[in-house]
This record gives sequence, structure tokens and C-alpha cells, in this order.
Amino acid sequence: MPLRETEAIVLRTYRLAEADKIASLFTRQLGRLRAVATGARRTKSRYGAALEPLSYVRVLIFEREHRELLRMNSAELIESFFDMQKDYRLQLAAQFIAEVAERMIPEREVNERLFRLLLAVLRSLKLSGEVTRPLLYFDYWLLRLAGFLPDLEHCHNCARALGERGGFYGPGSEGLLCESCRTGITGQRISLSPAVRAGCQRPLERWISEETAPVGCREARRFFEDLIETHAERKLVTRAMMEEAV
Ligand SMILES: [Zn+2]
Repeated sequence: MPLRETEAIVLRTYRLAEADKIASLFTRQLGRLRAVATGARRTKSRYGAALEPLSYVRVLIFEREHRELLRMNSAELIESFFDMQKDYRLQLAAQFIAEVAERMIPEREVNERLFRLLLAVLRSLKLSGEVTRPLLYFDYWLLRLAGFLPDLEHCHNCARALGERGGFYGPGSEGLLCESCRTGITGQRISLSPAVRAGCQRPLERWISEETAPVGCREARRFFEDLIETHAERKLVTRAMMEEAV
């Protein structure tokens, strides 16, 4: 039974029996997985605060052949994001990231760029206290790294250039449609501005510290989050909660 050490982000934990927890983790070296942490619900657990949601941790995992559920041997906290729980907006944003990660990241597929994206976005939420740009950046790169980011300048159906007026989208969309192809879509028009696109291409930390948010970030987020829901094939619970709260 090989023991593997890996860094991980705790997406969430579930109760299991009286004293144990199941941790849903996105690990750097083993991809996304679930592991049982025995005794994690005891007051004097050896895991301490390491299994709080969105903790960045170093874990030891027993790999078991032919079993979906792995076993965690230990977890050591590298960086905590627990303080964000004090701000409801940041808390929801962090929960949104965890929910999307659970729905969209395939199990046991290592993805270093995605791992670094999650860390960068969590740090940016924590340090800047801003929600819109970190989430926009997360949405954009998640779609891009998953291969789901559509051509933003051409119609998804007929490939005609959309121009400055942009295109149309609605629930279930996988891309933008031109005026003639939009029939049947009761969606909205969006034109992603060069400033929004350029921002998403910069390192997130520098974008936030060196510039103010350009107009259109919230609209861009709405569009990307519709695309994420299309590919996740479900409505995201935390997205609806954010729309109510923010
Ligand atoms: Zn078209």
C-alpha cells in the first residue's frame, strides 16, 4: 500500500460515522480525490485546523488499489484561508470556487496550472478583499484550461466576426451567437472589452494591485458562469447565493 505525499487544497469535508471525515481534495501531485480522515471529528484530532475548507495543506495519502476512497494518514497546514469566513462575500466566493472545482475538475487528473490558479485566486481574495476580479479571473482560466473557452470574437454557430457589438448568449450556451444565429435564444448581448480581456491575461496579483477594475467585469463573469453551468450540466448552488448576497 504505497504512501504518497502531496500538497492539496481542501475543497470541503463531510461527516463520516461518529469520529471521521471524508475530505474532498484537489491535490497537486494526484489530482482531485476523496480521502477518509480517521478520527478527524474528535476534539483532539491530529489534523487540527488543517481540514478547514480551502486550507492549503500537505497530506500523506495511502493509495489503495481498486478503491475509490483513499485514506489520509496526516495533514499539515501550509496556509489557512479560514479568516475569509468572517466576510460573507469572501466566504461565498471561496465556496463558489470549491463547488466549481468539485464539479469541473476530473478525478485523479494532475493539473499543475489549475492547482496554481486555485491558490492564486484564493490568495487574491484573502489579500485584496475584492470578489469580482478574482472570480472573473478564476472563471476565465478554468474555462480556458478545461478547453471550454469559446472564441470570443466570432459567432459560435456560423463563425462570422462579431465586431464591437459583441454577441448573444443565454442559459445552455457554449459560446456567443451573432444577430442572425441567435433565433430562439432569449439571452443577452455581451461585448467583452479589450480592458477586461487584457486583465485576464495578466498575473492576477498585479492586475489587482496596479489597476482599478475596468467596466464590464461583472457582465463578463455572468457570461463565463453561464458557460461553466452549461459544461457542469447543472446550476451552481453558490452562484445563486452570491447573486442574492452581493
Ligand atoms: Zn452566426
